[in-house]
Amino acid sequence: MESEIIRTDRFSVRYCSLNTLIIGSGAASLNAAVSLHSMGVEDIMIVTAELGGGTSNNAGSDKQTYYKLSLAGGESDSVREMAQDLFDGKCMHGDISLCEAQGSVQAFIKLVGLGVPFPRDKYGSFAGYKTDNDPRARATSAGPYTSGMIVKALAGEVHKRNIKVLDNHQVVELLTSGDGSRIIGAIAIDTMKLDPFDSFVVFNTVNIILGTGGPGEMYEDSVYPLSQTGSPGMAYRAGAAGQNLTESQFGIASMKFRWNLSGSYQQVIPRYFSTDSSGKDEREFLNDHFEDYRDLTRAIFLKGYQWPFDPLRIADSGSSLIDLLIWQEKVQKGRMVFIDYRKNLTWEEKETFDRGELDPAARDYLESSASLQETPLERLLSINRPAYELYRDHGIDLASEPLEIGICAQHNNGGLKANIWWESDLKHLFPVGEVNGSHGVARPGGSALNSGQAGSFRAAEFISRRYNSKPPDRDEFMVSAGNGIKQVFDTALKWLGSPDNKSGNQILSEMRHRMSYAAGIIRDRQNINEASEEAASLFKSAGSRFGASSTRELAACFRISDLCLTHFIYLEAIRHYIEEGGRSRGSYIVTGGVKSPLKGPAGNYYETELCRYDRDVESSIQEARFVNGKVSFTSTAVREVPEQNLWFEKVWKEYLEDNYIGDRDNSTNY
Ligand SMILES: Cc1cc2nc3c(=O)[nH]c(=O)nc-3n(C[C@H](O)[C@H](O)[C@H](O)COP(=O)(O)OP(=O)(O)OC[C@H]3O[C@@H](n4cnc5c(N)ncnc54)[C@H](O)[C@@H]3O)c2cc1C
Repeated sequence: MESEIIRTDRFSVRYCSLNTLIIGSGAASLNAAVSLHSMGVEDIMIVTAELGGGTSNNAGSDKQTYYKLSLAGGESDSVREMAQDLFDGKCMHGDISLCEAQGSVQAFIKLVGLGVPFPRDKYGSFAGYKTDNDPRARATSAGPYTSGMIVKALAGEVHKRNIKVLDNHQVVELLTSGDGSRIIGAIAIDTMKLDPFDSFVVFNTVNIILGTGGPGEMYEDSVYPLSQTGSPGMAYRAGAAGQNLTESQFGIASMKFRWNLSGSYQQVIPRYFSTDSSGKDEREFLNDHFEDYRDLTRAIFLKGYQWPFDPLRIADSGSSLIDLLIWQEKVQKGRMVFIDYRKNLTWEEKETFDRGELDPAARDYLESSASLQETPLERLLSINRPAYELYRDHGIDLASEPLEIGICAQHNNGGLKANIWWESDLKHLFPVGEVNGSHGVARPGGSALNSGQAGSFRAAEFISRRYNSKPPDRDEFMVSAGNGIKQVFDTALKWLGSPDNKSGNQILSEMRHRMSYAAGIIRDRQNINEASEEAASLFKSAGSRFGASSTRELAACFRISDLCLTHFIYLEAIRHYIEEGGRSRGSYIVTGGVKSPLKGPAGNYYETELCRYDRDVESSIQEARFVNGKVSFTSTAVREVPEQNLWFEKVWKEYLEDNYIGDRDNSTNY
């Protein structure tokens, strides 16, 4: 690794050259670093906006899930079956499904070895449970903070291996070769530097592993931790392709302290109510839409297992009807919505917890857990005390106050496109973790963490076998990167030259509001068209509305500008999907201009039609590219789960001869 200071007429720039720069310090990035190091690739560095920030280290639920191949008991399972189940979630390539299924055991056992406390019995069996979209019991959990524990275990390993970490560095640009075919470096801002003219760092790299997570700042109603901003825009600007950008997950979460209200939080059957914006006019709004007590309590109970909003679960008093009704209260009627553990819901004008009238599944579950106590709070304390304590630790006592909730963005199933070695269309750029859009429409709960671990390992394996070389010397690098670097400095000079332009936060809240309104669980054809046009025009004008007088403000301008492009691309993707005839699926319903209403007991909620995957736009993967200021789309047929020849001698020979990775120029890998 080489490092020096370069001076331009205005900037004093730190220059650094190395084999692989790993951006971000979430579970995926840290695993990439540890894996590379263990494979002998030591000329590496982690650069991160915030060590300890991001989703993995700060998000969770009552029982945060890790999805892997079943490893205990007598139930059969196989890599192929797991790959098929991932593939059956639709619009996920079969070869990627196979890699994620195959990589799951190795990744999981590595985490166990690093000390992540996944529960096991006295025989060492890792018991599993069923999660959403999981036909088996492949899920496991180390508790509410599973991903945080993974981060701590991997960060310990990074520290032990003396892997260099540059904290408080926000990467603002990815640099490409002259022909735009590959990544050659990056530019970051050291946000701790007082003088913005002193804050830039330029990296000359062979490879970049991008682990910057999901676009956490993009929605107003969001359960991503505040520290997770995400920054995929720079990859699109550099020319990388995205896929399945229409697919995100939304569900019920608390707003003051951002946390998923799944599992036990719903299984204890809490009370829901809404108020006007001043906290008056309290109403238990769900009651009007359910015909009887059993239907209502069953839907609430099922929200525990069926956390993400799902258009398939609205009809016949399905659990997603609850999300829909909350969304209507908040977004359409402008009311505040709360979940309350202090008392039971009101039915026929009196507070009721009628054990005899509960749905058998709910009653059996609560009975088996010895948790049929009188109030939701008592049931929660009985069934899952840590779930109560978690809120108490964040200054909220569920015994004395209700929680304000919303239908919040939680995960992006789509993201950057990559091949079976997690390399993007832009060669030498490896998106890992949530920024990689490997998932299809309906992923099993917990597969995000598995994908991050399996994928980052594969990226490291490929780099160690094919791209473990020195970066070019500085002069050669500057010939290719000079223009890209100049553009960033020119932009910085422009913003630093207009310190009074303080529209950044206003632009940010405008974008976030637009996304929650038009691109959340309800996607109306007309609204999307308007939102997309507004986003295009904001994207064109935003650059001249930013201004900065400090390093942090400058970094914020780059961050918000990145999001401006991202939200434009995402809205365009949704607009294109609907325009081409795409219907309700995943975690949203498409409304406007289509027939076949979804019916519920209280009538028709929305004019919509469910996706049947019998149209090209639904059955293929939508790919998006940002070229010359516009977003263009292609549709790619989904690749099946490949047939394998696993004859041992053949596999061994290919492995020994280093042929298993594929062609040396990588051109024939997807
Ligand atoms: C409430 C909630 C519950 C969830 N529950 C589950 C679950 O049960 N099971 C499951 O599988 N998944 C779950 N997920 C999803 C899963 O947690 C995430 O997909 C995963 O943790 C993302 O990990 P990551 O390493 O890709 O990114 P992150 O952990 O988000 O890390 C991103 C990193 O990139 C850094 N960064 C960002 N931009 C820049 C930049 N420009 N320059 C430098 N650094 C940058 C950040 O500081 C951070 O360190 C949940 C998510 C949420 C929000």
